[in-house]
Amino acid sequence: MPAILKKDNLQQLLASLSQAYKLVLPVRENGMTFFRPYQTGLTIDPDYINTATSPKEFLFPQTEKMLSFKYRESADISITNEEPHAEKLAVFGARSCDLAGIAALDPVFGGRFPDPQYSTRRDNVLLVGLGCRRASASCFCQAFNIDPLACAGADIAMIELEDCFAIEARTARGHAQLANFSQLLEEDHSGGVKTSLSSAREALNRSFGSLPDPAGVKDFLDRQFELPYWEQIASRCLGCGICTYICPTCHCFDIFDVTRGKPDGNRYRCWDSCMFADFTGMAGGHNPRPTQKERVRNRFMHKLKYHLDRYEIGGCVGCGRCVEKCPVNLDIRQIINDINKLQGVEVNGQ
Ligand code: SF4
Ligand code: SF4
Repeated sequence: MPAILKKDNLQQLLASLSQAYKLVLPVRENGMTFFRPYQTGLTIDPDYINTATSPKEFLFPQTEKMLSFKYRESADISITNEEPHAEKLAVFGARSCDLAGIAALDPVFGGRFPDPQYSTRRDNVLLVGLGCRRASASCFCQAFNIDPLACAGADIAMIELEDCFAIEARTARGHAQLANFSQLLEEDHSGGVKTSLSSAREALNRSFGSLPDPAGVKDFLDRQFELPYWEQIASRCLGCGICTYICPTCHCFDIFDVTRGKPDGNRYRCWDSCMFADFTGMAGGHNPRPTQKERVRNRFMHKLKYHLDRYEIGGCVGCGRCVEKCPVNLDIRQIINDINKLQGVEVNGQ
């Protein structure tokens, strides 16, 4: 049974969290909402549906140093690996889709060959989920059976109600942290939270538009690689890569050395995009994905098939960011609908 946190006590909870962790929270900035570091008095954007960029950046930063290297006179090289960042970080206000995005990244970076940087950050992060009050026109997490109120994967889950938050710990780390601010919490003696939760769910469900049905898509893509359909999609795609940068599950990176003309230097990794022409370019000049058709196909196959093949977990969590930001309105929901039509499945009566 969740406890109650009065809205008036939110500031105290944030201040308390910031004592134990570096705290980031969704803050309104220039008309958009981003996770930003907490300062005294700063509070969450009361109207955000989701942040412009996902919490992926805190576990897998856009650019990070991997090592530095020095050439010695004897011509061998000394290499100093970058120590993993063991900073304790609390991400407050993560939505269910973005928590599912982290669950999709976990087997990539924490699987058979754990990435020390990601794994150390993941071990030190406290995820405070905040259930959604309403969906935007581009949200479709429910198509992938993600419950926007459940905050699955959070250490602490919160749901905003009229004058309070329902709050509960889900992991040992969450319980330990919640115990630190137990004086701010109240029990729900009257059972009013249960009733409010059910109204919140009804209002939330009503706010979703029609959802695509991805159920048979992977099966179809397992059998269909060479579809002329991808040429139609590619003819519109500009290859700008924004869809991949803002996606909470995209995780491709490039590695490069910076020497500034000296023999010594640093090695970095930074986000890359399968939508870029040189992403699969090889040293000899060959490119196995020579046109935008192969790149577009790869992106959507990755979202709807390859990630499931590799990890049995979806590669799209329905956050809708790519739907909102694509400059030519390529919409993954429409692509799911089109694939269903290609295999003769009726789509919303069409
Ligand atoms: S955002 Fe749109 S135009 Fe840009 S690479 Fe992605 S699909 Fe192509
Ligand atoms: S593919 Fe688009 S809708 Fe799906 S998780 Fe990535 S950004 Fe969100």
